[in-house]
Amino acid sequence: MSDSKPNLYGMERQELGSALEPLGVPGFHAGQIFRWMYRRRVLDPERWTDLPKPLRERLVSLYRVEPGTVSGTASDDDGTIKYRIDLSGGGQVEAVFMIQDGRVTLCLSSQVGCALGCSFCLTAKMGLMRNLTAGEILGQVHLLVQAGEIEDAPCNIVYMGMGEPLHNYEGVAASIRLLTDPEGVGWSRKRITVSTAGMVPGIIRLAGEPVRPMLAVSLNATTDAVRNQLMPVNRKYPLTALLDACRQFRLQSRDALTFEYVLLAGVNNSDADIRRLAKIVRDHRAKLNLIPFNPVPGWLAYECPDDDRVREIRDNLLELGVPVSVRWSRGRNARAACGQLAML
Ligand code: SF4
Repeated sequence: MSDSKPNLYGMERQELGSALEPLGVPGFHAGQIFRWMYRRRVLDPERWTDLPKPLRERLVSLYRVEPGTVSGTASDDDGTIKYRIDLSGGGQVEAVFMIQDGRVTLCLSSQVGCALGCSFCLTAKMGLMRNLTAGEILGQVHLLVQAGEIEDAPCNIVYMGMGEPLHNYEGVAASIRLLTDPEGVGWSRKRITVSTAGMVPGIIRLAGEPVRPMLAVSLNATTDAVRNQLMPVNRKYPLTALLDACRQFRLQSRDALTFEYVLLAGVNNSDADIRRLAKIVRDHRAKLNLIPFNPVPGWLAYECPDDDRVREIRDNLLELGVPVSVRWSRGRNARAACGQLAML
């Protein structure tokens, strides 16, 4: 990774064209390179056989094509695998491969660490080190697809790993363009979910994108007082502003919105909380994912309500007309569960 040559991996089509133009490379070759890297997932320029050999040799001497490398894994019995990835630009993140009922979901990181400081999240303990580039985000997909040998399986992508995706708007938006470009990876935008802690300007901007992913909002509280305590971002963008932005996103995209709600015993799981939660979710015609908190003893001071209380909350919400599902923890033993990713 010490190679200082520019990295072709992560460049969009136009960017590739502009980078190669000074070398006298015709524009259509940029399209061929784009397809080799993202559609065919072949990253060795020597194997880009529809390019003239002298051009391939030049590319090898002038550029690198690096998605990052896997430097460690941890597995859980439920099929969840957490990958530690050395980034092409230096540093490390974690990404998670999950499989349930034959459906594969890849959970991607968008930043090394996170600046948002949510009090129930292990990643927050790292602080923010840097944003990932589009290539470093897409590289996680490349590496996990390769390691899991799932070339032909349609995957769901969730931006729920380390970092707040809308705090790295440019990198995340570019990675979504590469994932959805029919000449690139070519996956449906409906299989891609960006999860935000409530970056209101980012939600509004995302609503105006020509290719929009699905949106999940990590809500976790129904009053500003509790949300301020759990998620400092709420002091800047309080609930009213956040819910207005959600409404705008839904109206513009016409896609269903998802709220995520981490259940913390004695903090946000009273009957009054649940009634307010039901109202918010119904008002936004959204879906709700309840996430029983994944304890990290020694690091985070919260506890999870017991399983009976979680089921009771789910049943109450169903009775109140809320489409709700419980995300029973996956990958807990590999410390790959929600809120447990951190290079600590
Ligand atoms: S929950 Fe998400 S936004 Fe909050 S600190 Fe953790 S990674 Fe950042």
